[in-house]
Amino acid sequence: MSRLRSRAAFRRARRSIPGGVNSPVRAFRAVGGHPVLVRRGRGAWIEDIDGNRYLDFVGSWGPLILGHAHPKIVAAITAAAKKGSTFGAPTEAETELAEVIRSAFPSMDLVRLVSSGTEACMSALRVARAFTKRAGVIKFEGCYHGHADPFLVKAGSGAATFGSPDSPGVEADHTIILPYNDPAAFSGAMKRWGRKVAAVIVEPVAGNMGVVPPLMGFLETLREETRRHGSLLIFDEVITGFRLAWGGAQTLLRIKPDLTTLGKIIGGGLPLAAYGGRREIMNRLAPEGPVYQAGTLSGNPLAVAAGLAQLRQLKADPGIYRRLDQLAADFEDSFHGRDVTVNRVGSMMTVFFTKQPVTDWTSAARGDRKKFARYFRAMLDAGIYLPPSQFEALFVSAAHTGGDIQRTIRAASRALVR
Ligand code: PMP
Repeated sequence: MSRLRSRAAFRRARRSIPGGVNSPVRAFRAVGGHPVLVRRGRGAWIEDIDGNRYLDFVGSWGPLILGHAHPKIVAAITAAAKKGSTFGAPTEAETELAEVIRSAFPSMDLVRLVSSGTEACMSALRVARAFTKRAGVIKFEGCYHGHADPFLVKAGSGAATFGSPDSPGVEADHTIILPYNDPAAFSGAMKRWGRKVAAVIVEPVAGNMGVVPPLMGFLETLREETRRHGSLLIFDEVITGFRLAWGGAQTLLRIKPDLTTLGKIIGGGLPLAAYGGRREIMNRLAPEGPVYQAGTLSGNPLAVAAGLAQLRQLKADPGIYRRLDQLAADFEDSFHGRDVTVNRVGSMMTVFFTKQPVTDWTSAARGDRKKFARYFRAMLDAGIYLPPSQFEALFVSAAHTGGDIQRTIRAASRALVR
């Protein structure tokens, strides 16, 4: 498989774009070599600029639950574009999208549309701080909530520590980092700092240290303790919203957060995200209240049309989540007896190159990055495009067929013996 054009194009990109990419993980640093540059995608497949085709399990990191260039979504975007790409004035379609989101997420009385998951999480924290008149935020090691300062903090190991920023240029003095899936550490921290904590933000099923499901009692403890201490609980469902179920992880797990952030799937592959929650909190937002948050392209007509088209497809096909689960389960089962740990919830899955159970960042970090990199490269050469990092989730889409999964399983079994 030749990737000479990609190599040359990447070299060219690096002359004009920092590191050659507009989002760091795309650069393949964790697996070595250079990225493939994509020229088109259709269904479950993408094609690079050398003409190689790959079965895609990245799905643009989550949005593409129906695969690439779904005809209904393409038609919706085209129709919207013909009517004008942006107005900076309200449209009826925005209300429609907010109504669909509310119907799926009963915890969201009011919904504000924004353009990225980063914006959604950053804005949810702002309104939480204004509502509680507190500054503190608790996040969990290995969870990602976009690149706004308060969330971009690397976790210390062990006991609760005030985090030190993950990146120069970041100020995160009010952020407390705790281990995922450790209710005792959380209760201890709330006892000590609860009165100062505006919000606790969590991925209810973690996807950003690889897939890590919540252990029984973890999220329940977050719910109880935040209620007791007057802190708000924010579920970051940017990945899990409309992926694990129509109503996201909170519906599956039957836990009602105060605020929810959404992204990825709700934009149908265009830049769109949302946050929302209890009416009395969301009513603090301007122009209803004093908390400022705005966006030139918020609720963009093309993005809203794409999102609505995708959500309508999901709504019209209630069996889709069961089918996705089955496809991913078949893939998961094929790793039985290998020296790996597979974590999977529905259509999100990670193969960790460790035999130990993975329940938090510390155990995820035991994943052998070198072994993963070898596996990744062998899969790429076999025409299977996986997330280029041990600590990411792969996504199965409704465009994948049983045959695609069998093909992937055969490639994986060869890749694992290499
Ligand atoms: N929250 C979660 C759980 C995410 O996975 C991501 C992005 N991968 C974000 C927030 C940030 O979203 P965006 O990249 O759209 O800013």
